[in-house]
This record gives sequence, structure tokens and C-alpha cells, in this order.
Amino acid sequence: MQEQKKMTLTTKVLIGMGFGIAVGLFINLLGLNGEGLLVNEYVVNGFFHIVGKMFVTALKMLVVPLVFFSLISGVLGIGDISILGKVGVKSFVLYLLTTAIAIALAITMAAMSGIGEGVNLATDTIFVAKEAPSLSSVLINIIPSNIIDAMAQGKMLQIIFFSILTGISILLVGKKAEPIVELVEIANEVMMKMVNIVMAVAPYAVFALLAKAISNLGLDLLVDLTGYVLVLIFALMVHLFVTLMSVLKLFSGMSPAIFLKKMRETQIFAFSTSSSNATIPVTLRAVTDRLGVNNSVASFTVPFGATINMDGTAIMQGVATVFIANAYGVELGITGYLTVILMSVLASIGTAGVPGVGLIMLSMVFTQVGLPIEGIGLILGVDRLLDMIRTAVNVSGDAVVSVIVAKSEEKLDVNIFNDPHAGKLTDADLDIDDEVEHEIAEVIKETHDKS
Ligand code: ASP
Repeated sequence: MQEQKKMTLTTKVLIGMGFGIAVGLFINLLGLNGEGLLVNEYVVNGFFHIVGKMFVTALKMLVVPLVFFSLISGVLGIGDISILGKVGVKSFVLYLLTTAIAIALAITMAAMSGIGEGVNLATDTIFVAKEAPSLSSVLINIIPSNIIDAMAQGKMLQIIFFSILTGISILLVGKKAEPIVELVEIANEVMMKMVNIVMAVAPYAVFALLAKAISNLGLDLLVDLTGYVLVLIFALMVHLFVTLMSVLKLFSGMSPAIFLKKMRETQIFAFSTSSSNATIPVTLRAVTDRLGVNNSVASFTVPFGATINMDGTAIMQGVATVFIANAYGVELGITGYLTVILMSVLASIGTAGVPGVGLIMLSMVFTQVGLPIEGIGLILGVDRLLDMIRTAVNVSGDAVVSVIVAKSEEKLDVNIFNDPHAGKLTDADLDIDDEVEHEIAEVIKETHDKS
């Protein structure tokens, strides 16, 4: 019998995405998303909402233990504390640099297009600015006073700090700590398997997430602010396909085409969840298993990047600043724009990659340069959809830097990077080996017989 060709997860996720957008548009265009309507109650806010939410929650559930074990295992894998320092410094510099390039590009493009001039300022959407963290509190907060609390709240920089410290201490204890080393390695493997299990339902979840988002929002919203939306999306694409890919090629020599192909799935996850943080498990898997970055580098650069590196968000801030400054007729001048660049880069360090956080960062920037915070109300309506696109750019930036740093530290497996099939997830990955199944059954039987 001819063997049926197995579809890969990426193909299934792509199909899920296409159907999700189509169904969402259908519901939106037919007006089935109105208050009290059956489709809205039971399908959009019932079925789609439940499936999507369960999936994102499952991803979030994986983040803390995965980062904890993979990072300790990464530190143990590197073994040398000075290399760890180099990985830290290199990724930090590259993250800041790419973010600064992103926002400078965005400001230039937006300024050249003249968006925002003559925009009607009447808006009934009110933006309430949230308190933004100060730089000193960001620095102090890297150290957790209580690691259980840090983990419970998912404070990524604190978890990273504690995991690295744990790894280093295990190394210092030496031979005696060998059982812990083994435990960490196994726990890390178990967590990666859990990622595979959760990812197996991704195509359905991506469908539900997108169907819900699009049916609630529709695309006509985007038309109201066409100039802003177009310039923003264009700048995001230029940054992803031109800037980041040139940086990748220049610093690592690796192929942008292969990189983009292998990152597609992760980008769709980021797009559907609007959260770099919730996407960490998927990004980490793609960066290690598909792009060949050694876990000793990726376990640090990926969660670190999800927290401090947001190129897409920086682009949004650049475009939004020009748009709103023009709309209010405020002349920012060169110093104003330089402040915007500096503030956006700093703001990205202290804020986690979760949905909508870009707007909070924007309010920090506005306060600094004296732009009216109410202006953010103008772009609030379209932000939910744009958040999806910029999050996909954010996670791509994290992966680019991971590859570059790994290559420079000789921690990149070029064969894996170039192998088109490496790390592809198929149904077979979730099959339990017959032999293993048999062994487990034996162990259970023995235990029963004894008792
Ligand atoms: N949602 C983005 C992220 O998680 C942050 C933002 O731009 O709001 O990366």
C-alpha cells in the first residue's frame, strides 16, 4: 500500500491560519458578531474563545518551567562562566542595536510619508496611561526577593537571573551535584516534549484565535487610518525582510531564505497570540531544533529577547510618534526624535512581551517628549490587529540575534540550520515507542504484583 504523505505541522498551522482569517471575515462581514446573536454567543465568544484561550494558557503554563530548566541546562552546557558573560553582552548589545535601527527606520519612513497631517482629532476612544517602570526599578527588579513569587508572576528577568545563578552554583559544587545535573537534563527534555504535545493542537488553536480576533475586529477599522496602518506595516516588512535579514547574513553568513522558512511557524504563533512571552516555548524549539542553535545559547537569548527585544513594537512607536505629532501639529525636531529613539529602547528593556504592552511603552515615550497622551486614543482601535503583526517581527528579531551570537561562539550547528527537514514536527513525534510502552507496562505490572 502506498504510504500516505504526512502533512507537517507548519502546513497545518498555515491552513488553520487561512481558515481562521476567512471564517472571521465571513462572520464579521455578515454582521453575525452582533451582541446577543447566536453565532456571537456560542461560536465566537463561546467555542473560538475557549479553544484559543486554553491554548494560549497552555503555552504560558510551559514558559516558566521551560525557561528554568533549559537555562540551567544551558549554563551547565557552556560550563565556562566567561563564555556566558560574552553571550550575555553580545546579545544585549545586538538587541539594543536592532531595536534602535528599527525605530530610526520607522521615524524616517513615517516622516517622509507625512502621515497624520490634517487628521481629524475628534476621537471618543480614551486612552488611560499606565504607570511605566523607571530604569532604576527595572535594574533593581532583576533580582528576585522571592523566586516563588517571581515564577508565579512570570517575571522573566528575575527567573533568568535565578536560573543562571543556580546553574553556576551547580557547576561550583562540582562532582557532588551530578545527580542534579542529570535531573535538570531530563527535566529539560520532558519540558521540550510537553512543548511538542501542546504544539500538536496548534492548527486548531490558531484557527480559533484568528477567527475570533478577526470576527470581532474586522478589517474595515484599518481603512479609517489607512496612512498610519500602511506606513507601519511597510516599515515592519522592510525591517523584517531587509534590515534583519541583512544583519543575519552580514554577522553570521547564514541564509536568510532558510531562516525565514524555518521561522514561519513561530511567526504565526506570535501573530495569533500577540505575545512574545507566550511564544517562548515555540521560539525556543524553532531556534534549537530547526535552526541549530545550541541550547546553551538559545536558552538565554530567547527568553531574554522576548523580554527586552521588541523591534516591531519599536517600529510602531516610531510611526505612532510621527503620526500623532503631525496630527497635533507638534514639531519634535532632531532632539525630540533622538529622545524618542532612546526612550523606546529603554522602555523595551523594562516591559515584558505581552499583548498591548507597546501602548504602555508609547505613553512613556510621549510623556518624555511632551506629546499629548490622549493622542494614543487615535490609534487604539487598530492596535489590536497591528499588535499581531509586530509581535511576529519581535520574535523574528530574537531568533536572528540567537543565530548570530551562537555562530560567533561556535555554538551553531550549520548542518541543522541548512537541513530543510531538521526539527520538523510530524504526527510520528507524538507516537510512543512500542518498546517503551511495553517496558512501562512491565514496570507497572511488577509493582502491582509486589503489592
Ligand atoms: N505584543 C507584543 C509582544 O508581545 C508587545 C507589544 O508590542 O505590545 O511582543
